[in-house]
Amino acid sequence: MSDRVIAGAPLPEEGQFELSLRPRVLKEYIGQKSVKDNLDVAISAARKRGEPLDHILLYGPPGLGKTTLASVIANEMNARFRATAGPLIQLKGDLTAILTNLEFGDVLFIDEIHRLQPNIEEILYPAMEDYKLDIIIGQGPSARTHRLDLRRFTLIGATTRAGLITAPLRSRFGIVHRLEFYTVEELEFIIRRSAEILGAKITAEGCAEIAKRCRGTPRVANRLLKRTRDFAEVRADGEITGSVAKDSLAMLDIDEHGFDEMDRKLLRAIIERFEGGPVGVNTIAAVLSEEVDAVEDIYEPYLLQIGFLQRTPRGRIATKLAYDHLRIPYRPSSNTLF
Ligand code: ADP
Repeated sequence: MSDRVIAGAPLPEEGQFELSLRPRVLKEYIGQKSVKDNLDVAISAARKRGEPLDHILLYGPPGLGKTTLASVIANEMNARFRATAGPLIQLKGDLTAILTNLEFGDVLFIDEIHRLQPNIEEILYPAMEDYKLDIIIGQGPSARTHRLDLRRFTLIGATTRAGLITAPLRSRFGIVHRLEFYTVEELEFIIRRSAEILGAKITAEGCAEIAKRCRGTPRVANRLLKRTRDFAEVRADGEITGSVAKDSLAMLDIDEHGFDEMDRKLLRAIIERFEGGPVGVNTIAAVLSEEVDAVEDIYEPYLLQIGFLQRTPRGRIATKLAYDHLRIPYRPSSNTLF
């Protein structure tokens, strides 16, 4: 799964490549208009008052630009950007060290914040609310709690699903935004910008072809651009035209909706083995030999967004669009809602 060309999560070798394409200021950050408008106001107000921004929670599927937006916010605030991730913080001391090293106004970004261990998450509550850190000195009956002052900072948390955040943590974020999948036009813009940075030649048709098939996700758009550029250099004259992009994506087994074998397997399983659904997410995960979290975070959101799947209280249902796509005669599930 981690090697899927259309995975929203980064592939291991992509770090440097992504950094080079990452927008630095709000103006360069494409799409997500209402999120940007709101943040623009909050940033201007905070800057006027000379205060750090409120804590911000960003959620949405992988690859939609949460990390990028967090670093853009830091740049707009002229603040330092410190990034870590929930699973990387294993000991209370790790988080204590990070917090005590923050300067006034710093932006601390915690990716996958829902994966913080509960005893570590609790450290964040007073840190976010009062900029205090409770440290326990000594052990057993003689142990004493000591309150340390922290410098005022902005925490930006990111998660793939807001429902995974505990209520006490969520309530400490003053600003909460959900990132949406991008439109084809926005993705074309992102692809054109990235091609310029990479020095890749691409036609409008080539751009449109990639934009249609990247599942509304900028990370996938940039990855497909890179793959089609390689293809164009080796199999054509270097320019990514519509037909070069088509051939290259066909070779990667990505169809006109940006689906790969896993998506088709998922839809086919629901239709052929479960008569179109409803099927519980646990069963889907078992059929795909995947984790339930992966199904909910990675596979489903886009299929739901474009209407190939429908979520019902009793499980997922394949819609007519899914049958048509797989060229299977449509038989409505008895649970279809419309
Ligand atoms: P997330 O943290 O949500 O998984 P990232 O912020 O790492 O996603 O974004 C992945 C890549 O997609 C970035 O390296 C960046 O190049 C590109 N990207 C994301 N959002 C945008 C955007 N709004 N405009 C342009 N490029 C974007």
